[in-house]
Amino acid sequence: MNNYINPYPSVMVVAKRPDITFVKGKGSWLWDSRDKTYLDFVQGWAVNCLGHSPDMLVETITRQAGKLIHAGPGFFNAPMVQLSDALTAHSCFDQIFFTNSGAEANEGAIKLARKWGSIHKQGAFEIISLENGFHGRTLATMSASGKAEWENLYGPKPSGFIKVPRNDIDAIKSTINKNTAAIMLELVQGESGVHPASLAYLQALRKLADEHKLLLIFDEVQTGMGRTGTLFAYEQSGVEPDIMTLGKGLGGGMPLGAMAIKKEIACFEPGDQGGTFNGNPLVTAVGQTVLNAILAPGFLEHVSTMGALLSDGLYELSAKYGLGEVRGSGLLLAMDTGEFSAVDVVKQMFETGALINAPRAHTLRFMPALNVQKQDVEQLLQMLEQVLIGMVDNHAGKGEKE
Ligand SMILES: *Cc1c(COP(=O)(O)O)cnc(C)c1O
Repeated sequence: MNNYINPYPSVMVVAKRPDITFVKGKGSWLWDSRDKTYLDFVQGWAVNCLGHSPDMLVETITRQAGKLIHAGPGFFNAPMVQLSDALTAHSCFDQIFFTNSGAEANEGAIKLARKWGSIHKQGAFEIISLENGFHGRTLATMSASGKAEWENLYGPKPSGFIKVPRNDIDAIKSTINKNTAAIMLELVQGESGVHPASLAYLQALRKLADEHKLLLIFDEVQTGMGRTGTLFAYEQSGVEPDIMTLGKGLGGGMPLGAMAIKKEIACFEPGDQGGTFNGNPLVTAVGQTVLNAILAPGFLEHVSTMGALLSDGLYELSAKYGLGEVRGSGLLLAMDTGEFSAVDVVKQMFETGALINAPRAHTLRFMPALNVQKQDVEQLLQMLEQVLIGMVDNHAGKGEKE
């Protein structure tokens, strides 16, 4: 872990965490145990779509906790049924399976695609996914992900995942064979640094999937639930997948994921798939409150307006300080930092009291609360500019000495 010192030895080290402890959050702000405040544009990794501890969720959690917390996966409960109904009513899908995480939703999609292939395509099981894609950290979803660093980790991993480059339809065409069951991808690759799939590519994928009788799986764990300005990102393309997976924003900070499918492809039999906490009423009640908030009049317009404000500001900073490309839609945005280290920018922003993320060494990612306020966006941009000024000065100073 090269020199990383864990301040809490009982906590297993799986990430280099800074030596602070968060104790409180409200809206776009966090407080640590020394009472320092942080403007949060990471929001639990694009999870807290309504910000930290919104009153709405506190109220739902309190109300539902007093009624029923858990009844088990062998029984229906009211919030589970209500949220299934609502998600199908507001999408092109017919059936929902709830999970505790995005990875588990994708794991379910992989299982369903394999079962479907075994029934309808003479045992086809291969799934084509994209280089630099991210689908989670279970063994199968790690196999489905296109992260080069994971290639040799935890072997032997489940096989049957073929990677192709993004937006390259010929690569998909030449990979499809009799064993192919599905194509799985993110509409915007989040962890790779906010790289969208093009509209023409998505349309061509749908056509190929129909021609070759393949399932099209959209991983909307990051792009779903209003993040890109529409409830689901697929709506912007007009291309409907057979399976969509959700996570992150769906629970607004509670662990909730989902797999949504069209009824034509349903093929699980009782006992094929499940999990102890799946469809838990406390968590699905929260999901319902989140969905209602996103569907409220004006909410998605606010996402687009704040997204435009933030991306305009980023374009301006990029032009002024000679950085790089600005990408993304809604409130899933990234900016390349050119010759500057994005990791250094994140560190200095942290010192000044702002949280942003560097998914790549030279890429910054911004994923604030979807109800982020205008003054918070403006403040974040100001803080970022101060950090950039410092780095440009430092850089110029070094240049002179050489
Ligand atoms: C975060 C993410 C996942 C994994 O979700 P977890 O809840 O961490 O398991 C899967 N796919 C995408 C696109 C993600 O961004």
